[in-house]
Amino acid sequence: MTDNPDDDALQGAHLDTLAVRAGIARTLEGEHAEPIFLTSSYVFDSAADAAARFAGNAPGNVYSRYTNPTVRAFEQRIAALEGAEQAVGTASGMAAILSTCMALLKSGDHVVCSRNVFGTTVNLFSKYLAKFGVEVSFVPLLAIDAWRAAIRPNTAMLFLETPSNPLCEVADLAAMSALARANDCLLVVDNCFCTPALQTPLALGADIVVHSATKYLDGQGRCVGGAVVGAARHMEEVVTFLRTCGPTMSAFNAWVFLKGLETLRLRMEAHSRSALELAGWLQQQSAVERVFYAGLPDHPGYELACRQQRAFGGVLSFTVKGEQQQAWDFIDAVRIMSLTANLGDAKSTIVHPATTTHGRLTPQDRASAGVTDNLIRIAVGLEHVGDLQADLQRGLAALA
Ligand SMILES: *Cc1c(COP(=O)(O)O)cnc(C)c1O
Repeated sequence: MTDNPDDDALQGAHLDTLAVRAGIARTLEGEHAEPIFLTSSYVFDSAADAAARFAGNAPGNVYSRYTNPTVRAFEQRIAALEGAEQAVGTASGMAAILSTCMALLKSGDHVVCSRNVFGTTVNLFSKYLAKFGVEVSFVPLLAIDAWRAAIRPNTAMLFLETPSNPLCEVADLAAMSALARANDCLLVVDNCFCTPALQTPLALGADIVVHSATKYLDGQGRCVGGAVVGAARHMEEVVTFLRTCGPTMSAFNAWVFLKGLETLRLRMEAHSRSALELAGWLQQQSAVERVFYAGLPDHPGYELACRQQRAFGGVLSFTVKGEQQQAWDFIDAVRIMSLTANLGDAKSTIVHPATTTHGRLTPQDRASAGVTDNLIRIAVGLEHVGDLQADLQRGLAALA
């Protein structure tokens, strides 16, 4: 392998350039596209070399649970995009969150977590970390006083997602970073919805970014993966956990994500442009009660999103006049959008949060998350926006 021939030229390059070129290391074949190293293990030059690599005294790969050149290329690219010292690829987004917690928390620590995070993240904290003596308090994303009040002497981590799912609430990352710093704890941000194309939490003071690469980093719904991004001293701990416990990213998936990242900014702009157009249009429909999208000037998070994000993202939600039945009738009438809970795909998706993604919450928790029975979430894909609007019109027609 040779080092990236472009490394020096990439210093200070724009996100678009880094997304295409960061992390490239060519083999002696001189291939132009990134190679996939589908190998579980590596051979050594000599017994002495094997001993040195095993001991960590010589560079070079040993085993793909530890390092793999394709995964490393993905890690270098995502680190460059997030403006981080280092990134670590993981088997899934949940593995990224688990690895962060296992590496940086210990029994007796306390976590304050936004109530408005991915449902499985809630379960990870409340079911599994709790079992190992890590306590967690859940607070509403935007209630900074509640965060402050929940912090204890043993609080080690604040965890949040912004914008939130499904109501697109926007947390003030600079203010949350200041709160974390003042209390000597880490701020961990799940940046899945914006991706570094739209928002870079580390630049606003967050300590660690986690990703589900499954969503927009892939962008075409092919592979499951994740990443943890941050300072080298934290990533060292995450790497040690991954090497020991094994939720590493596969080389094949890393290759798919590398190719996905090349078009990340173009895709995020297109998702955002169409979502904004559809949000504005939905707002004018008489069968629609309310639209939740931070790109709408009447959304409470609009001004903050304008300051903190480069665009508003592809996910929006809205309530229809009526109850669950009207929401279901709407969803069953659309023909182009896929009825699936996934997001971050070229294909638009539509889902009824109250009976799917948020179905396991108690009715009270669902109510406090703002997930009413008449709420519908769409993740706007890359189809022509006019066709998507016509599809939503089918949903509206079902309510007439
Ligand atoms: C999907 C998702 C995750 C989990 O990622 P997986 O790759 O499915 O494990 C975490 N956070 C958010 C915001 C997600 O949308």
